[in-house]
Amino acid sequence: TSEAAQTRTRALVVTQNGDSSVLEVQDRDVQAPGQGEVQVEVAAVGVNFIDVYQREGIYPLSTPFVSCSEGAGTISAVGPGTSEFAVGDRVAWGQGLGAATGLVNRDVESLVPVPDGVDLDVAAAAMLQGMTAHYLVNSTYAVQPGTVALVHAAAGGVGQLLVQMVKAKGGRVIATAGSADKLEIARGRGADALIDYSDVDDLAVEVRKANDGKGVDVVYDGVGKSTFDASLASLRPRGMMVLFGGASGQVPPFDLQRLNTGGSLFVTRPTLGSYLADREELLERGTSVLEDIAAGRLAIDIGGRYPLAEAARAYDDLEGRRTRGKLLLIP
Ligand code: NDP
Repeated sequence: TSEAAQTRTRALVVTQNGDSSVLEVQDRDVQAPGQGEVQVEVAAVGVNFIDVYQREGIYPLSTPFVSCSEGAGTISAVGPGTSEFAVGDRVAWGQGLGAATGLVNRDVESLVPVPDGVDLDVAAAAMLQGMTAHYLVNSTYAVQPGTVALVHAAAGGVGQLLVQMVKAKGGRVIATAGSADKLEIARGRGADALIDYSDVDDLAVEVRKANDGKGVDVVYDGVGKSTFDASLASLRPRGMMVLFGGASGQVPPFDLQRLNTGGSLFVTRPTLGSYLADREELLERGTSVLEDIAAGRLAIDIGGRYPLAEAARAYDDLEGRRTRGKLLLIP
């Protein structure tokens, strides 16, 4: 019956640490929303690398757990003690585990309202990567007119957003990617110089060639293990290395003395959670990203939509470098 359907949901469960074969879609009961919660009918769930790190156990969680931290949908019921949202409101989130297609209960503190003019699948695609690119260019290293930024994996989810946001602030982007097709995507987003890092002898030399022989102000590096050394070697004195992920693997411990020989370099390893310190900061970043989309200032590239039952294939594609932009899981 429709009533029974209302109380069941389909969740993506990590049964144990491992590769994508440990993922299982399970039917779950959904209770009425509790204190400070709303119930959301989910339109789309975002696929992210953090899901991979959690599944593999690099970010330890006790198994089994319901995967994924990003989505968007329409509120179908409001729990006690909640006045901020009402039934019918469209909301999105980029933090807090619990992927499901169907109904899901969410803490209202995790939700950002979706403005008119932004589709729910676009909102689901924009939250985690969008707020990440937002803090990286505004807060971790405040890009100014004339800032030269090296952006790795520039056709990827975060990468395409970084290119657009650096350009919007008047910066210059040197973009890397693993194929000519992907570099064309980065160019389409506004990148000024393009380097295929799968096809160079010395990446740092190519970066300097693309910047009048000088080092860059900031490197945004979500690739990690395979690019870290070249990223450090690409910086100007007092430049900043922003290591924000490890799509190619985690960077091993390194000798701090290298920051000295590179010319008083800075290294940071930021994470979204510490740049969403309170509800105010979440609303500020989330709303800024969604309003830029609504106004046509920020483009979201949905590179693939997968039914929840095919989530393993989505992750295999992401980890296998076969994707561009953002992947979604849909009902
Ligand atoms: P992407 O869409 O960028 O996909 C990853 C890309 O990395 C690939 O498409 C590929 O592009 C490149 N890559 C290079 N080497 C490898 C490799 N060996 N294996 C897999 N991919 C490789 O993913 P996301 O935008 O979702 O995430 C990008 C990075 O941002 C990740 O490291 C993620 O953890 C990080 N992140 C960090 C956050 C934070 O707050 N710290 C928040 C959100 C994401 P190509 O083929 O062009 O090389």
